[in-house]
Amino acid sequence: MTTQHTSHRKAAVIGAGQTGVTAALGLLDAGFTVTVYSDKDQRDLRDKVPATGTALIFGEAQAAEAALGLPTYLDRAPLHSGLTVRVAGGGEELIAFDGAFDGFHGLAVDTRLKADERLTTFLERGGRFVVDPVTPERLDPIAADNDLTLVATGRGGLSQLFEVDRTRTVYDAPQRSLLTVTVTGLPHDESVFAHRSPAGGGRSGFSIVAEEGEAWWGPYLHKDAGPTWAFLGWARPGGDWEKRFAAADSAESAHRIVTDLYRDYLDWDLPEVLATRVLSEDPHSWLKGAVRPLFRRGVGHTAGGHPVAALGDTAVAYDPIAGQGAQSGLIQAQRLVAAAATHDGAFDDAWITAEYEAFLEARAEDAAKVTRLFLSDPEFAEIGGQFFSAAAADPRFASALVGTLHRPQAARPVNSVADAHQLIAQVTGEDAAEVLARFRPAGRFSRSQYSAAAATA
Ligand SMILES: Cc1cc2nc3c(=O)[nH]c(=O)nc-3n(C[C@H](O)[C@H](O)[C@H](O)COP(=O)(O)OP(=O)(O)OC[C@H]3O[C@@H](n4cnc5c(N)ncnc54)[C@H](O)[C@@H]3O)c2cc1C
Repeated sequence: MTTQHTSHRKAAVIGAGQTGVTAALGLLDAGFTVTVYSDKDQRDLRDKVPATGTALIFGEAQAAEAALGLPTYLDRAPLHSGLTVRVAGGGEELIAFDGAFDGFHGLAVDTRLKADERLTTFLERGGRFVVDPVTPERLDPIAADNDLTLVATGRGGLSQLFEVDRTRTVYDAPQRSLLTVTVTGLPHDESVFAHRSPAGGGRSGFSIVAEEGEAWWGPYLHKDAGPTWAFLGWARPGGDWEKRFAAADSAESAHRIVTDLYRDYLDWDLPEVLATRVLSEDPHSWLKGAVRPLFRRGVGHTAGGHPVAALGDTAVAYDPIAGQGAQSGLIQAQRLVAAAATHDGAFDDAWITAEYEAFLEARAEDAAKVTRLFLSDPEFAEIGGQFFSAAAADPRFASALVGTLHRPQAARPVNSVADAHQLIAQVTGEDAAEVLARFRPAGRFSRSQYSAAAATA
């Protein structure tokens, strides 16, 4: 039996990224005495590192934050009302659709801002913050001294303490190289990206160039500059984009590389890109790298045998193509806090493992599947082809497809083309063959007529 626990319990959270701090604040509010251990002080966490990622999150992840009583930034961030998608390949402009989000908005908040503000609240409410780059040796006495220890040190850090789950991990290497840069100079009104959607700057825009990779622009809340735009690009191994991304070594060079990419490959959006400017106040407004999608075991052990729980990127890492990492971490944090608040026994191997497995089943496995779908994984290529064609043919399916970023569980029953047709029929109320028969290749995408001068006049 579980009851609301009232006796005094102690928790440690290692890592003060947005996931760790969110869990720490939740545990504090649930009555735990909480210590956060961080390898950097609060100021350096905010100003001396890049954001971990774009961290665009949707309805379910916002609901997890709200369930913890935390601000969701819906009132501060520029909102995403949907996603416009364009697919080109073999020199052809093939597929275009505009998917509206149904009943939720997306928002991308600088991870440094969110972690910083939550850390401030944590300290105001009596949480303890210790600057200590925790080693595996240091972790042992910390875990011995606490009832529950969460390890949220990101993809590096102490993640090695948690064995890779080889049954759930399907890739042995990153699938894309990544480049991201945050910029200013573009408003968020209907004049921006109007050629992609009447909602203009309320949408984020995703373009696929089949041989090279993918490119995305979306509204963003930067820690200093406020409402801005973020670019995120994915380069396939061995392509021209990969070489270009590898050359980035500053915000300025990243911005130049992105501008040239749009000039050479994605000219339909070029006027907007030419209007953007680097954020001079933040030298860390860019990032390059790669993520190997990975599941780890939920429980690890210190040298002395104390169980510790993996949280956020330490537990599951996603390629960001479907925007699942930050969402997953926030949802996992909320579930762990809710479960810990009402658990009456020890936070032992069995408890940590059961909670983790339940989280994987409720969210992470589906999130990884949708990521594979958007990565054009060969196993899902045919299904993806049907989905994208149906989205181009029917706005209801476009909305359902972009809705999988919010509720990836919708993709759970889809494992074959027949399943894909069933989902298309369920969403549209029509036979999938009829929907797909309406699909016509885009031919030529509409080009932007955006004029920065007209927008500011
Ligand atoms: C390019 C890119 C774009 C992305 N876009 C999206 C998106 O659109 N939507 C989405 O949902 N997700 C996205 N993600 C994923 C998302 O950004 C991450 O999942 C999320 O920010 C991870 O947060 P975290 O707190 O788990 O880890 P981190 O942010 O990595 O935090 C870990 C913290 O632990 C600290 N630390 C490390 N080692 C130690 C130690 N030994 N002792 C103490 N402290 C330590 C680190 O300094 C850091 O502060 C993206 C990722 C990338 C790379």
